[in-house]
Amino acid sequence: MTYDIQRVYQHGTLALLIPGLFTGTMTVAELLTHGNFGIGTAHGLAGELVLLEGHAYTVNGDGQVSELTPDTLVPFATVHWQDSNLSPEVVQQLTKADLERRILAQAPLKNLFFAIKITGKFKVMHTRAVQAQTEPYPNLTTATRVQPEFEQTNVKGTLIGYYAPALYQGAAVAGYHVHFLNESHDFGGHILDYTIASAQLIVQPFTTFEQHFPSDNQAFLASDFDLNQINTDIEEAEH
Ligand SMILES: [Zn+2]
Repeated sequence: MTYDIQRVYQHGTLALLIPGLFTGTMTVAELLTHGNFGIGTAHGLAGELVLLEGHAYTVNGDGQVSELTPDTLVPFATVHWQDSNLSPEVVQQLTKADLERRILAQAPLKNLFFAIKITGKFKVMHTRAVQAQTEPYPNLTTATRVQPEFEQTNVKGTLIGYYAPALYQGAAVAGYHVHFLNESHDFGGHILDYTIASAQLIVQPFTTFEQHFPSDNQAFLASDFDLNQINTDIEEAEH
């Protein structure tokens, strides 16, 4: 196992979720050989995946959190090895929009992939979680039309996720895509908005984006992707 802290690894590509390719194609056990932190979704779009310190959790459409077994399959996930030598920056009283602008104002990172990890106390955390789908799978916009939302105030926990350059819309969500899990592991999901009370921020830029494809999945191999539709659908489903 290599611990390349300069590399972000992705299994599947965001675009394959658009037409409804929700079949899991990599086990959690294998995914965790490529990184110890990350985000994604599980087989059948069964919840929002949050990977923290080598453990994979999902927040399902009922808001329930569970740890995934090593043999659980995932269709799409992004992971990296967290660089333990990076010193955290203390951030206080910041909204999501303010923090995201500030990161890009402080360093010329807009054309790179980078991870953000925020640990601490959030004044407000607003999330949503996708509902598990059954075959035949609908497309992503249909699957995400009903998205239960959750909100907690004064919640402690960890935010983890990525920034992807505009060029990579489709492979990933261009811009920020972040998930959350609280300290007591009973609240989290795909983040819609938050305000930080006081927390520690770590930004980890990558020199390499490694894209791994489900090369033995026939439905993926046979799919024709419509680039314009992908853009519209990502905006609708992921923001
Ligand atoms: Zn998400």
